[in-house]
Amino acid sequence: MLINAEHLLQYQRCKRRPVLDINADKSQRDAPNDLLAKLHQDKIAYHRGILAGFTYEQPKYSPGNREAVEAETLELMQRGVEYIYHGVLLSNYQDWTDTASEKYTLLSRPDLLIKQPGQSCFGDWMYVPASMELGKRPKQEYQAVAAFHAQVLANVQGVTPDTAWLLLRTKDSGYPVDLAKWTPQMLKILEEFIQALQVSDAPEMFISRQKCNLCHWHSQCYAIAQSQNHLSLLPGVTPVRYAQLQALSLTTLESLANTSPTTLEDLPGFDSIVATKLVIQAQSVIEKRPLILPTSLPKAEITFTAPVELYFDIEAQPDLDLDYLLGVLVVDRQKNTQQFYSFLAETPADEELVWQQFLDLVWQYPNAPIYHFCVYEFDTVKRLAKLYRTPYSLVNPVLNRFVDIYEQLIQSVTLPVESYALKVIARWLGFEWRDKEASGAKCIYWYDKWLETGDRSFLEIIQRYNEDDCHATRSVKDWLTNFFQNEYSIIQESEASL
Ligand code: SF4
Repeated sequence: MLINAEHLLQYQRCKRRPVLDINADKSQRDAPNDLLAKLHQDKIAYHRGILAGFTYEQPKYSPGNREAVEAETLELMQRGVEYIYHGVLLSNYQDWTDTASEKYTLLSRPDLLIKQPGQSCFGDWMYVPASMELGKRPKQEYQAVAAFHAQVLANVQGVTPDTAWLLLRTKDSGYPVDLAKWTPQMLKILEEFIQALQVSDAPEMFISRQKCNLCHWHSQCYAIAQSQNHLSLLPGVTPVRYAQLQALSLTTLESLANTSPTTLEDLPGFDSIVATKLVIQAQSVIEKRPLILPTSLPKAEITFTAPVELYFDIEAQPDLDLDYLLGVLVVDRQKNTQQFYSFLAETPADEELVWQQFLDLVWQYPNAPIYHFCVYEFDTVKRLAKLYRTPYSLVNPVLNRFVDIYEQLIQSVTLPVESYALKVIARWLGFEWRDKEASGAKCIYWYDKWLETGDRSFLEIIQRYNEDDCHATRSVKDWLTNFFQNEYSIIQESEASL
C-alpha cells in the first residue's frame, strides 16, 4: 500500500480524509470545483515564479509507472544535478520501524531536491528537500511533511539531510525545518495514520466549514452528519469542545440541550456565557426557532432604526492585498427608497479612487449608521485610511458610525442554523442571492479572471453578488429589529395583564 506526503498532510487536518482517500470508493468523491481549480492554478504559478530563479532538471513523467520516475530521479542525483524538480523517491516503511505488520511503501515527491556538499551514496555531495508552500507561515503540518521528505531522502541517499526547507510566500521565503524536533513527531503521526488505515471504519467525521469546503468527500460526510444531527453542525462546537462534550457523554443534540450550563462552565475554554450559549443553541436547533440570550443587548440599541441607513460590503483580493469593490446600499426609510452604489476598481491602481468615492458618499449622510456584517469592513476602512493618508477628521467620524450586525446578532439571539455566516442566516430568513453559486471566495477567482481576460461578465457577477450581500445584511438587520420589537411587546403585554 502506498502512502505519500499528501496523505500525511491531510491526516493532520482531518483524520478521516486520507483514510477515505485510500480505502473508500473514489467514485463517491465530489467533482473538483472552481475553488480547487484556482488553488491548483495558484500553486502552479507560485512554483513557476520560484523555479524561474533556478536552473533545474525534472524526471520525465511516466503515468502509472512510479518506479520509472524514481529510476530517472536517482539517475539525476547520481549525475549531481544541482536542482531537481518533482523527483520521486520511494522507501519501505519496514526500513523505518519494526512495528509495521503490513507492507507500506512511502512515496516522497519533494518540490525541489537541492544539492549541497556532503557524503552520500552518490559521492561527495548530498541533497536536501524543499517544499514550496502557498502559505505565509511555517505551519506545523508543513514541517511534518518536510520531515517526511527528509526521512525518505535519508533512506535513499544513505545520509540524513541536516535540514529541510520550506519556501513560503514571505519576503524572507526560506524557512529551515528543525528535523531533530519534527522527525519524531512525523513518525508518530505516520504510525497513527497507519493504524487508522487498518481499522475497518474510517475515523468519525467532524464538519468544519474551513477544511471541509475544500474536501472532495464533503457531500458524503455532510449527508452523514445531517442524518445523525452531528454536533459538529452546531455553531460553537469546535473539535476541542466536541472532545470535551464526548468525555461528559454529551454526544447528541438532545443531551446537550437538556444539560445545565453549570456542567460545562468550568471546562477549559468555557465560562458561564459560553456554556449558556451552547446549551441554548442546542435548544434553538431542536425547537427550530430563535431564542433570546441572557446577554442580549438593550432594547434601544438593538431595535434602533434611523431615517437613513447605509449597508456596506467589500470584495477583496487578498493575494494582491487589494480591496477592489466597495458596495453601499443607501436605504431612506422616510422616502421609502433604496439605491445601491458600486465603487469598483477595474485595475488594482484604482483602489485609491474607489476609496475616495466611498468617503464622498458616506459623508453625504453624516448621521446615517453604517451597517456591515463581521469585522472585515471596519478593519479595511482603517487600512485604507492609513494607506492613503486620509486625515483622522475624515475617517474617525465614519468609523464611529459602523454597526456590526453580526456582533449584535450573536450577542442577543441563537438561531436554528448550522453557522452564523451571512449566507446561512439570510437564507434561513428566506433571502436568496441572484447567483446561487456565487461566494466571496469565487469572487476572488472571478476578479483574477477579469484581470486575465478583460471579460466584463466576471465584473458583473461580482457586482451583483456584492449588492446582494448588502441587501442580505439589511434583511438580517430588519429581522433582528422586528424580532426584538415583537418579543418586547409580548413581554410588556403579559406584564400588563398580571
Ligand atoms: S469532508 Fe471534512 S470531515 Fe469529511 S473527510 Fe473531508 S475534511 Fe474530513
